[in-house]
Amino acid sequence: MMDPRSNGQKIRVAICGGGIGGLCLAVSLSKHSNVDVQLYEAAGQFKEIGAGVMIWFRTWKILEKMGLADEFSKIAHAPPTGMTGKPKHLSEPELALTIEDLICHRKCIRFHRAQFLDVFVNNLPTGVAHFGKRLSTYTYETSSISEHDKLIKLHFADGTSSICDVLVGADGIKSCIRTQMYERAARLKHDSGLLGYIHPIWTGTMAYRGLIDVNVIPKGKDGTLHRAIRDPIMYCGKSKHVVSYSIAQGDIVNVVTFASDPKKHGQPYAGEWVVECPKEELLSCYAKWEPEVEQLLQCIEKPTKWAIHHLQPLPFYHAERVVLMGDAAHAMAPHQGAGAGQAIEDAFILAGLLKEATLDDIPAVLDAHERVRLPMANSILTGSYEAGTMYEFDSKYGDDYETLGPALQHLWDWIARTTLEEELESALELASIGKPPNSAKT
Ligand SMILES: Cc1cc2nc3c(=O)[nH]c(=O)nc-3n(C[C@H](O)[C@H](O)[C@H](O)COP(=O)(O)OP(=O)(O)OC[C@H]3O[C@@H](n4cnc5c(N)ncnc54)[C@H](O)[C@@H]3O)c2cc1C
Repeated sequence: MMDPRSNGQKIRVAICGGGIGGLCLAVSLSKHSNVDVQLYEAAGQFKEIGAGVMIWFRTWKILEKMGLADEFSKIAHAPPTGMTGKPKHLSEPELALTIEDLICHRKCIRFHRAQFLDVFVNNLPTGVAHFGKRLSTYTYETSSISEHDKLIKLHFADGTSSICDVLVGADGIKSCIRTQMYERAARLKHDSGLLGYIHPIWTGTMAYRGLIDVNVIPKGKDGTLHRAIRDPIMYCGKSKHVVSYSIAQGDIVNVVTFASDPKKHGQPYAGEWVVECPKEELLSCYAKWEPEVEQLLQCIEKPTKWAIHHLQPLPFYHAERVVLMGDAAHAMAPHQGAGAGQAIEDAFILAGLLKEATLDDIPAVLDAHERVRLPMANSILTGSYEAGTMYEFDSKYGDDYETLGPALQHLWDWIARTTLEEELESALELASIGKPPNSAKT
């Protein structure tokens, strides 16, 4: 039955969560005349932690398409480049190993997170964002127009509510929307196994993060700049690795270090996921690593410590007009620098599908989005965890560079396997947007 509101009525899209994913989608949808987009953020303002974020060239193409390339270029560092390593010291087992040629030479672009988020914030029209709106639950209401049409009612922690046609869960790794969607599906499908997808899993890895002003990093004896200032670099050792790259047009070096116990993958993690930690703890974790690593870590004044969690690959991303995106759908370990990029890809495909859609198209739109995005994002989720075990010589390849190198390269194939244009095209084809009812929708 044709929904009368399809006739010229806007699709009301509510996005819960104003991180990179939710904001990117809100900016994209705010340009669509057939969509009324509202963004609800639990916090009192948009915010990102002080750290770096890197994106790959395929994500950059989306930002270009959004007309934001100039603004992002101004805050980018550096021009698209690749990660590099230095020759290994296999003869010195007490030292951390550094490696050459294991990491892909694909193009990545680095940013300060707060600056990155600000570009989206600055491009969001006024009136779209609502702060202090923590979603508690959503319910389904029957519309006064059609008995068959379900409206979604959002209930916020401050006692207010709102109505929408499509709810987007962009509420991060601990998503309350994922919880409700999977609890409801488990009930309706009599499948208690679905409850197992709700809670994130600890990867067994702890990360330490810090930002360093380039001017405080000591120069080498011959006056050379520290390697971390010159190139993005990864130092690898048994069950540990250290990544650094410069951001903020070269003014700041972003450092993130990882220490893993693979046996603890999947075990419960007690305590806060993110805490401040004493500098001594960071230094002792990497004691006896190469002097240039120690030099770098010595410069981090206030490190933070993160328990790295990820999701099990979800079997579905949408149900009954509610769709998950970003970390709510596929939170992944950061070992391929891909979580934010994948959130942006979700936004690109969803916004592209909604551009020409009417209310009648919503089920097909969400199906097509899932069919294109789920296999890709879930496989990067799995690959990101595997990549971490490879960098730390804990995978089946151990430290056999002959096999480790190609295996690692293979994990990065997704960056160039498809283009976003091709993916949007196949999503539009799957959704058959604009075609007569029942012509191709499945
Ligand atoms: C150490 C580390 C390094 C990383 N490095 C990279 C990198 O280099 N490149 C990369 O691509 N990715 C990286 N990532 C991953 C990336 O940070 C995330 O994938 C990305 O930020 C997720 O964005 P999001 O918008 O989905 O979620 P989030 O950024 O978590 O945003 C969720 C938003 O929802 C809000 N919210 C939560 N609950 C509610 C509610 N009930 N109602 C309303 N609002 C709510 C929150 O306040 C928040 O603003 C890294 C992650 C880590 C941990």
